Amino acid sequence: MARKLERYSLFIGGKWSPPLSGRYLPSYEPTSGEPWYELPDADSADVNLAVEAARSALRDPAWRRLTQTARGKLVHRLGSLIGAQVDRLAETETRDNGKLLREMRAQVAYLPDVYAYFAGIADKFHGEVVPINKPDMLNYTVREPIGVVAIIVPWNSPLLLMSSVLAPCLAIGNTVVVKPSEHTSASALEFAGLVEQAGFPPGVVNIVTGYGESTGEALSAHPGVDKIAFTGGTETGRRVAANAATHLAPCAMELGGKSPHVVLEDADPARAANGIVAGVFAAGGQTCVAGSRCFLHEKIYDDVLERLIARAKRVRIGPPSDPETELGPLALKAQLEKVQAYVAYGREDGAELVCGGTQPSDPGLRSGWYFEPTIFTGVENHMRIARDEIFGPVVSVMSFNDESALVEQANDTRYGLAAGVWTQDIDRAMRFARDIDAGTIWVNTYRTSSFMSPVGGFKESGYGKHNGFEAIREYSRLKSVVIDYSGQTQDPFVMRIK
Ligand code: NAD
Repeated sequence: MARKLERYSLFIGGKWSPPLSGRYLPSYEPTSGEPWYELPDADSADVNLAVEAARSALRDPAWRRLTQTARGKLVHRLGSLIGAQVDRLAETETRDNGKLLREMRAQVAYLPDVYAYFAGIADKFHGEVVPINKPDMLNYTVREPIGVVAIIVPWNSPLLLMSSVLAPCLAIGNTVVVKPSEHTSASALEFAGLVEQAGFPPGVVNIVTGYGESTGEALSAHPGVDKIAFTGGTETGRRVAANAATHLAPCAMELGGKSPHVVLEDADPARAANGIVAGVFAAGGQTCVAGSRCFLHEKIYDDVLERLIARAKRVRIGPPSDPETELGPLALKAQLEKVQAYVAYGREDGAELVCGGTQPSDPGLRSGWYFEPTIFTGVENHMRIARDEIFGPVVSVMSFNDESALVEQANDTRYGLAAGVWTQDIDRAMRFARDIDAGTIWVNTYRTSSFMSPVGGFKESGYGKHNGFEAIREYSRLKSVVIDYSGQTQDPFVMRIK
């Protein structure tokens, strides 16, 4: 007999409601491939209600007239409520996306600090008085919320990526409609309960769920949305930006990557090999910043590669909730199939598979979407495995001997999200940081992140910034007010430029 799955509701205007269509869709557990709950399949009518609720909350004095300090306190309280639910929320995320429980726990446990940081900015962000060379006139600027922000989120780090936009948005008085991934909606819907508990006025935060092509499309094309914060794949980002262009809504785009990870010949080989593992096998390579193109200087190539292969072979693959596990399953069946296809492309294109390349043979893991850490050597930059984002535990290793040719090769990609270099020579590190076209550069570290440090890609990895004061600027608008207090009447036919 079919098991009855738990069903979630939409969170719109401070109320829980079923989708107007009455349709739901299942979310699957990556460890078993089985469905474990159902989420509402919101259509354009539900999206309309959510955007209307967010628009009316913008005008609601309960939100609009709240002092900056009071708004900051609400945001702070929301963070504290998350802090009290770390285990439950982290377990929900792991069950949905298959990433290690200890990684999801670390991400959720980090969120109270993220909310506290932006809560603290709420009453410290302001415009300024601008000198304009006109006596008896005053020009000042005002920082205002931008309005209704649509936040579209992927499945790999759901609450963290949602919060990096939501916290600054709320701190400065926006209202939001969140659309989590159809593969990982549970944690955002659980989070909505905390928004309610924190005491935000109804409609300030709304959550709609469903497929990207329907719910996401309706949200990104909605003329009532003032800004879109999109995190996801580059092709989807292009589609979202085109929808936004129909009503000229600005976007912040956090998209894909194919990041170069470089080891110079003077680097510590053990630390560098460990860094490469962190860059591409952690999170099963399902991270936008994955260091999936690895360049090793020919003098250190054999040493680092040997260490890398040895460590990859020792990676403990297993259920993500087991504290001993280092590599869980991929989040989606489609993702597993994509990784398998790219392994085949790598072979077809002439690269050499030196580690992994298959699902693990352990019969206990057969029902899940597991894949071994995979290393290709003999890769050339034109090959599909070196050009496309795979979003799995697959690294393309290349060798080099000339620094300027390396920079050219490292930049020879349509992406520009992140890059890493391992060296003990500060001059070379500085030159690398200067010359590489990427939004984040790591030196002797990889995948280090802070809510205080701005991130965001270049080229087809997107535009706009998450984190730090930059995020506050991203979700506010600047108004300029000019006041003439001279009491004089001016020539009406000459523009006041003097
Ligand atoms: P995706 O692009 O398939 O989906 C992302 C979100 O967009 C989901 O909520 C999805 O439902 C929605 N969506 C899909 N089609 C849509 C449409 N036509 N209109 C509006 N919304 C639509 O990405 P994914 O598979 O969930 O996530 C993986 C991708 O996200 C990778 O490319 C990864 O690099 C990227 N990512 C980037 C960052 C970053 O900060 N740069 C962070 C995490 C993930």
